[in-house]
Amino acid sequence: MKNFKVGIIGATGMVGQRFSLLLADHPWFDVVCLAASPRSAGKRYEDAVGKKWAMTEPIPEKLKNIVVMDATGDIEKIASQVDFVFCAVDMPKAEIKALEEAYAKAECPVVSNNSAHRFTEDVPMVVPEINPEHIEIIPSQRKRLGTKRGFVAVKSNCSLQSYVPALHPLKKYGIERVLVCTYQAISGAGKTFETMPEILDNVIPYIGGEEEKSEQEPLKLWGKIEGDKIVSATAPLFTAQCFRVPVSDGHTAAVFVKFKDGQKPSKEQILEDWKNFSGVPQELQLPHAPKQFVNYFEEDNRPQAKLDRNIEGGMAVCTGRLRDDNQYDYKFVCLSHNTLRGAAGGAVLLAELLAAKGYFD
Ligand code: NAP
Repeated sequence: MKNFKVGIIGATGMVGQRFSLLLADHPWFDVVCLAASPRSAGKRYEDAVGKKWAMTEPIPEKLKNIVVMDATGDIEKIASQVDFVFCAVDMPKAEIKALEEAYAKAECPVVSNNSAHRFTEDVPMVVPEINPEHIEIIPSQRKRLGTKRGFVAVKSNCSLQSYVPALHPLKKYGIERVLVCTYQAISGAGKTFETMPEILDNVIPYIGGEEEKSEQEPLKLWGKIEGDKIVSATAPLFTAQCFRVPVSDGHTAAVFVKFKDGQKPSKEQILEDWKNFSGVPQELQLPHAPKQFVNYFEEDNRPQAKLDRNIEGGMAVCTGRLRDDNQYDYKFVCLSHNTLRGAAGGAVLLAELLAAKGYFD
């Protein structure tokens, strides 16, 4: 595989820090540019991040001395230095939309963590094992933007990264409805226990916008390209409640699923489907593809965020406690690492898919 020069936009943030760790020794991607707000621009990366560094591993040596650029003021300069950028910025949605399109129009592809473009009709929102074919919308998007290389591709929200992979291989049985409650880590809000002391000894029953994303985004993932747009699926019905809990990393989900009349699979079939679930990333042996995507735990007290979130480098998902339900057909538990598979890792895997399919050439 050819090597690609990459930039990280929002490099000083929680997700940006994850990107810097994941990309420091990447076999295909070489970080040559870091950008953040004007507050950080002009400083060495190490100084710009300062006390905000929230990872357990240290800042990668090769990135420490890179001088941070201005993500909004230096677009042309950044675009001229890289083959594509990863983007994870905390700005108003309209500004993120404009920023990402500005990079795309400067012929710099954007692989984004942000939610701003997730429902733009010609922007693929991809979990590489689930809907890799949605990247084929990119020529339509390029036509709209008037670009030859530039485009925006996004990953989906972190909350659903555990339960959609578990439901996807069961779709063939005809899922009628899903109820899900998520128990989400504080790193999903860009926080640590130091910066979010109010979460200790507490559960906060509201995360702004999260329930809508958890209900609607699975339907875009399961949608189809029709002409110049991706049309979301209309079923199954999802209902979600999302809680913030005192966990550093790892989103847990309690899932209830009902199949169409007469189409309920056996427990053995579900376990077999999870075991055999493998997609394009595994076929192409992408560097961040987990070997076993869905991992079922037999123990009643697993998966646990603290013990199991780092499975396969935080890129696989865990399931457990599959059992009959007296209102739905089955209930079970899911877990995924929210800043790895759910954020930076998911975006890196998407970029690997795009690179392997020639979209950065
Ligand atoms: P964060 O820790 O608050 O970091 C925000 C980043 O955006 C910093 O690099 C910051 O730069 C930069 N920024 C802020 N204002 C800017 C401006 N006006 N111009 C340019 N850059 C600006 O946020 P985060 O948790 O990493 O999240 C980043 C994005 O990813 C958000 O859209 C979030 O919704 C999404 N996301 C997060 C997670 C997660 O698990 N954390 C998961 C999925 C998606 P300075 O340091 O210079 O201020």
